[in-house]
Amino acid sequence: MKRVSQTSKPFSNQIHNPASIAPALKTIAALRTAAHDCKGCDLWETGTQTVFGEGPSKPQIMFVGEQPGDQEDRLGHPFVGPAGKLLDRALEEAGIDHSKVYLTNVVKHFKWIAAARGKKRIHKKPRYSEINACRPWLDAELRVVKPQILVCLGSTAAQALLGRTFSVTRQRGQLIPAPLAPVVMATVHPSSILRAPDENARHQQMQAFINDLKIVAQLARKAKAA
Ligand code: SF4
Repeated sequence: MKRVSQTSKPFSNQIHNPASIAPALKTIAALRTAAHDCKGCDLWETGTQTVFGEGPSKPQIMFVGEQPGDQEDRLGHPFVGPAGKLLDRALEEAGIDHSKVYLTNVVKHFKWIAAARGKKRIHKKPRYSEINACRPWLDAELRVVKPQILVCLGSTAAQALLGRTFSVTRQRGQLIPAPLAPVVMATVHPSSILRAPDENARHQQMQAFINDLKIVAQLARKAKAA
């Protein structure tokens, strides 16, 4: 996909407050087009492009992560880097059809700092102000997609959507009462598995992740049969 230069964006389309436009838009396509020119926080300057959510028009399950990573930023699609590939594997093992889920992030631009050496871009956790600035896009996605099952991936997404005291370590895999969707759950972000200290730990963390997704698969089957 063509890399989009931020400086090439037409000035007239710039959006400085997503809350002023996102609630009125009724389709993911319209939201994606509008978010392309978002300058609701400073992250538009560091990210290559807005990486909006993707998936079928009426998915049963919506996954929400933290923010696009290095490859997502370059390619313009969510969950296409190493963590996304790991998520694909876990979905397959849990029996969830990847083509039927909607994938997005709480923050739509990649936040990074330059590595001390070389050209590597190191992921940096977004601030609450950035998460809040981007929230109207996520709220609009939730309103349009209306998932039966919402899964937060990692503590940034879980705390943004379920409250700052939410603990993924303690509450992963549990059903959380929340008005966001009929079923709401949180588990780890797949990137945390990539950071495991050794192969054994990585294997164990992957199995635990797959087990959480198997709960999601079971809930999805149950909801479909109801
Ligand atoms: S991170 Fe969100 S609010 Fe900030 S510029 Fe990007 S799309 Fe807009």
